[in-house]
Amino acid sequence: MTRRRWIAERWDKSTASLAGAQAEHLIRVLRVKEGTEADVVAGGRVFHAVVSRFSDAGAGASPEVSFNLLSELESEPAMPVTLVMSIFKFDHMEWAIEKATELGVASIVPVIARRTDKHLAQAAMKRVERWRRIAHEASQQSRRSDVPLICDPVKLADRIKAASNLKRVVLAEQERATTLRRFLEAALAAPAVDLPQFEIAIGPEGGWAPEEAALFDANVWKAVSLGPRILRAETAAIAALSVIGSMLD
Ligand code: SAH
Repeated sequence: MTRRRWIAERWDKSTASLAGAQAEHLIRVLRVKEGTEADVVAGGRVFHAVVSRFSDAGAGASPEVSFNLLSELESEPAMPVTLVMSIFKFDHMEWAIEKATELGVASIVPVIARRTDKHLAQAAMKRVERWRRIAHEASQQSRRSDVPLICDPVKLADRIKAASNLKRVVLAEQERATTLRRFLEAALAAPAVDLPQFEIAIGPEGGWAPEEAALFDANVWKAVSLGPRILRAETAAIAALSVIGSMLD
């Protein structure tokens, strides 16, 4: 049975600890004892660890579990991919955040596009903490050694124009000439010191507005296709990450 993996909130080179809901689960549900073994993620690395002590809530303190870090384990770094995801229906978007985390996305930047529903745009800032919790739980479930960064929502135009040394791609449903796969083949074949980092932009339910497509183009984002069918934004996110993941393995 694979050991559960816990993501530490505090650590140093030989110990780590977590508090709050994770600690509560460990103490009250899993009933850990001193010496209980676990995999603990600390600072993007994974360790074989044992519980050194734990304290349940009491006198206003929150539950806490401390570990001794015994040995470092192999860990799978995130894929070098940032998703620039136009905000869309929250339930579908939260599903996409969970799946993108399982697929190894490094960070997600929620953006407000021209055709993003106005109510969703206004409510987005209040949902970010929930999105971060979803990413944290999905990281734990998928045994990642890190949690993807979920950025605060920004305006699409600001992200398009931001300086970046990432290879930037906009998923364009009307694009026919270049597929994402062909773009990646060229990017990965180019001689480079280390693996390129990618940034993938996905439009809202209503797609990109013409002036957004022009802005992408003016800022050297490459338009690529995921094929002839129109995918929902959440499907496009999963499809794109799957294509990239299959080419990086
Ligand atoms: N405007 C579309 C819906 C947009 S789909 C329509 O005609 O109904 C939401 C986003 O998913 C798009 O903006 C694009 O970023 C991505 N997407 C969907 N299908 C795609 C495809 N076949 N190739 C590339 N991107 C796609």
